[in-house]
Amino acid sequence: MAFITEPEPVRGVLLPAADDISRIVAPNPGPMTCHGTNTYLIAQPDGTSIVLDPGPDDAAHVAAILDAAGRVSAILLSHTHIDHVGALPALKAATGAPVHAFSAGIAPDHLLRDGGEVAGFTVLHTPGHASDHVCLARADGVVFSADHIMGWSTSLVSAPDGDMAAYFASLERMLARNDTLYLPGHGPAITDPTGHTAFLLAHRRDREAAVLAVLTEGPAAIDEIVTRLYQGLADRLRPAAARSVHAHLMKLETEGRAGEQGGLWSIP
Ligand SMILES: [Zn+2]
Repeated sequence: MAFITEPEPVRGVLLPAADDISRIVAPNPGPMTCHGTNTYLIAQPDGTSIVLDPGPDDAAHVAAILDAAGRVSAILLSHTHIDHVGALPALKAATGAPVHAFSAGIAPDHLLRDGGEVAGFTVLHTPGHASDHVCLARADGVVFSADHIMGWSTSLVSAPDGDMAAYFASLERMLARNDTLYLPGHGPAITDPTGHTAFLLAHRRDREAAVLAVLTEGPAAIDEIVTRLYQGLADRLRPAAARSVHAHLMKLETEGRAGEQGGLWSIP
């Protein structure tokens, strides 16, 4: 198993994702966003479209969505990170479509709840990357895995809203299912959901073991752990790596396997 890449996709147009689902890739490429945020359009029998994740606040992206969608009958949110909801005000203003989200913070028209149904999908609350993250699963095995499970990269789990223990549990939850296609928030679709989820879980366990291995040699600050774990890391990615290591350490602390004193982490 390995990470899954794709050539830079064409922007502003519908790209096929599943039978009745297409995506538009937003023009916000970056180290955390791959080629950009995937905005999904789910075609409805009545000719309308449901939009999953409006994407970043970008006028050209919103115009592309409106152009491709026809009438928008609902807007669904996987979570409320800005690269997924930046375009929500513009899209809501242009369509008047009801918004469905897990987080009450953005005042959705309908609150999603774990185990609930929306547009033929079952809501799976999958905290870790974000506390309000949901995957949406359909009976035919198609799942919007959003930023919880992506093909191109592991998810950024950044304390405090990101929670490593919750992330592990949410990976286990998805691993126990038998889905056939994951549609992620960034990057290409995942055609082997179970295998890829197992790969991500193993990758995280390796990371956790590597953090613990550093601590067995003596107390260490987060910055030092980052230097040991991420060799050749670009400076601009150091803050994200530090937040990820911190999230690992907080999980280990909760489990009684690590502790912190004066900025130095150690094994009890
Ligand atoms: Zn996110």
